[in-house]
Amino acid sequence: MFDLLIIGGGPIGLACALEAQKANLKYLIIEKGTLVNSLYNYPSGMTFFSTSEKLEIGSVPFVSNSIKPTRSESLEYYRRVATSNHLNIRLFETVLSNQPESGGYKVTTSKGVYQTKNIIIATGFYDIPVKMNIPGEDLPKVRHYYKDPSFYTMQKVLVVGASNSSVDAALETFRKGAEVTMVIRKDDINERVKYWVRPDIINRIKEGTIKVYYQSQLAAIREFEVDIKTPEGLVTIANDFVLALTGYQPDFDFLKKMGISLSADELCLPQYHAETMETNEKGVYLAGVVCGGMNTHLWFIENSRIHAEQIVADILRKLPQPETQKM
Ligand code: FAD
Repeated sequence: MFDLLIIGGGPIGLACALEAQKANLKYLIIEKGTLVNSLYNYPSGMTFFSTSEKLEIGSVPFVSNSIKPTRSESLEYYRRVATSNHLNIRLFETVLSNQPESGGYKVTTSKGVYQTKNIIIATGFYDIPVKMNIPGEDLPKVRHYYKDPSFYTMQKVLVVGASNSSVDAALETFRKGAEVTMVIRKDDINERVKYWVRPDIINRIKEGTIKVYYQSQLAAIREFEVDIKTPEGLVTIANDFVLALTGYQPDFDFLKKMGISLSADELCLPQYHAETMETNEKGVYLAGVVCGGMNTHLWFIENSRIHAEQIVADILRKLPQPETQKM
């Protein structure tokens, strides 16, 4: 019987484990992929918008060569945190369901069954892309994840979106010789784009080296061309690859299966107590970016690593207290 089973070995799942270890709780992390699986799948050359100390967990220093660390530095950092603290973690094992059982839960995974008194769901949001639901979206040339720019050299690339991911992909592929067009729903590049990157994309658009259709939407994708709905009408352009970086969403079916109530509106906000992070299910907590529902920009490593302390404090508070000694 574990005191705590942590679902997800991302930065916040690891932060929860460090906190549990500090409190002498018997815990286990179960991660369906590799360690910090989401970060592993981020673009290879990605730089964080946070400075390294803001990505630190368990007070372990994160030393980076520049002010903003890269993805590969972060992989190394979280790996060293996990190994040097001997975190109890099982990788490439997926949590499937839970069932209340004698004051705790029976948790079933792809590899076994575990008993635990408490559960933390720290499953993030990076596994399910938000789909455009347009004809041709399932063609193999359409990617919802962008990894490396060199693949797109000398290709006609259409980037959908105006956020950090879209802007990084547009600039990187352009600099590796792709012919880049962006399709943006609003009339400007997102204000949240990294402050040192935004002028770069705006200047490339101004000089015409990256083309853009503002107030537009991708309408259909075919093997060698795409249709774009613009304020001037439907435009068809030649195309080799579509990078549909339209965001990601938490696995709401999984949350429901774990018994978590979600708001009925389009935000699908999970129900939890803001101080303890406990959900409507007793002893089941939420941590990290999963807490925001469809508001995936609300929580990130910087501001959600604190969830670890809040949850473990609540678990400790609920432990049976030793009886006061009789005189
Ligand atoms: P995740 O890192 O997504 O971890 C969740 C884990 O749960 C995953 O490893 C997943 O495989 C696992 N999992 C899911 N379902 C199951 C299951 N059923 N069973 C077992 N395991 C499961 N944040 C910052 O603070 N600063 C930044 O500069 C920054 N830059 C970013 C750049 C990009 C390109 C992106 C996409 C995000 C960025 N973020 C940044 C956000 C940050 O990466 C996320 O907020 C962070 O990963 C959240 O950590 P997490 O542990 O909550 O979720």
